[in-house]
Amino acid sequence: MKPMPESLDPQDWNAFRELGHQMLDDMLNYLQDRRELPVWQAVPSSVKDNFNRPLPQSPTSESEVYEEFTQYIQPYTLGNTHPRFWGWVMTSGTPLGMLSEMLTGGLNLQMGAGEHSGLYVELQVLDWCKEMLGYPMQSSGVLVSGASMANFVGLTVARNNKAPFDVRSEGLQNGHPRMVAYTSAEAHSCHDKNMGLLGLGSDSLRHIPVNEEYQIDIAALEEAIAADREAGYLPFCVIATAGTVKTGAFDDLEALQAICERENIWLHVDGAFGAFAAVVPEMQSEIAGLDKVDSVALDMHKWMSLPFEVGAILVKDDSAHFKSFTVTADYLEHDTRGAAGAPVWLSDYGLQLSRSFRALKVWMSLKVHGMETHRHIIHKNILDTRYLAELVDETPELERTAPVPLNIVCFRYVDDLLDEEQLNWLNHELLIRLQESGEALVSNATINGHYSLRMANVNHRTNSADFDFLVQKVVELGRELVDEMTSQPV
Ligand SMILES: *Cc1c(COP(=O)(O)O)cnc(C)c1O
Repeated sequence: MKPMPESLDPQDWNAFRELGHQMLDDMLNYLQDRRELPVWQAVPSSVKDNFNRPLPQSPTSESEVYEEFTQYIQPYTLGNTHPRFWGWVMTSGTPLGMLSEMLTGGLNLQMGAGEHSGLYVELQVLDWCKEMLGYPMQSSGVLVSGASMANFVGLTVARNNKAPFDVRSEGLQNGHPRMVAYTSAEAHSCHDKNMGLLGLGSDSLRHIPVNEEYQIDIAALEEAIAADREAGYLPFCVIATAGTVKTGAFDDLEALQAICERENIWLHVDGAFGAFAAVVPEMQSEIAGLDKVDSVALDMHKWMSLPFEVGAILVKDDSAHFKSFTVTADYLEHDTRGAAGAPVWLSDYGLQLSRSFRALKVWMSLKVHGMETHRHIIHKNILDTRYLAELVDETPELERTAPVPLNIVCFRYVDDLLDEEQLNWLNHELLIRLQESGEALVSNATINGHYSLRMANVNHRTNSADFDFLVQKVVELGRELVDEMTSQPV
């Protein structure tokens, strides 16, 4: 029997180092040539079988396990690193982001506690986020896993701040009036989840209808608030969206701000990807009033192109934020000197105690690329999206199903011979065939009952020629499907 290793460090550092260099080279080659590989391909059942094995009891060499990675894992990703991936809203990642994550893993910092360099990096990154958005510099913030968690933190602070009692100690079970929140029918589903988790119930989130620009209908919102007050409920929060998931619409923040101020309601903005439009001068009017809202949720693993996971919540009232999450325990005592002597503990601003050093990749990306480059990429994505919208409008077989205010185009294939039900079937089938072709990937959205292809562009690798290709491919697949549908024997 071989003796047990004394630690988990490599037994042969030189061999390990060599393998590490190999991994690095392989992964850089993969990213450099990503365009040549399929966007997406189905995971074969033989590959799935490999993930159905008993718990390994004895060691396997690093190189064998790495070999399994290259064979069974690397080829079957969702495809978001590819230049022609436009599904949902997903970061493409960057080679620099990957290297930053390696450094993060090496340092293995605990970002919830203590006095160390990482804290200052995160505080710097949070300040840069405020600067990017023109949000007040004295506001508090914390980096989180993504926008779902950022919205969760924001809604928690809103609830605790607007409740006429101490929610943290009393809970919601003391017969207090029902607390209700408002968002648009186009808002992200995470808010329903969060309302449930916060004990408020997703039924207490009113989904207000939208106008023809897919923005929250202001008059309908005011009516809903009045009706809830009439019923004896407590309206506490409006969740506005800057960049809705389906069409990229911006709610009117200035109008919402006026209502919230009058009604003593917290105004939270879900700006997951759309808030980054604030960095492009020509888009700034869309997001006017962002500086006055009570809190804003952001995702850096969308339009900042950083690898998963990183999002942020910013809260204008630092003490309201702190009061919602701080706890005391003697074993977590904050000190004024020594390793516990940090000016802030970021675990006092969110749900997590142990936190990863996700700030490093943001810090490195902003330093290396500069805001100039990030702004250029975001602007390019918006301009290329408009280009796709024009192509769709010029193509007789295609129909745009929603306005294009930002970086999303919803469209479908149409044919006079087919009715609405057949068109919905055709476009769904077309979407899947496009994905299975491995040549491009979009996701779907149903707009006014029309099943649509939805292209969301936060991809720094995409260029306008990729959209020429997309339109050509969609038309080709659409024609093929119409042929199949109209030549069916009766
Ligand atoms: C993506 C998104 C979310 C959810 O963010 P995650 O990072 O996936 O948790 C919430 N709201 C909007 C508008 C989004 O686009």
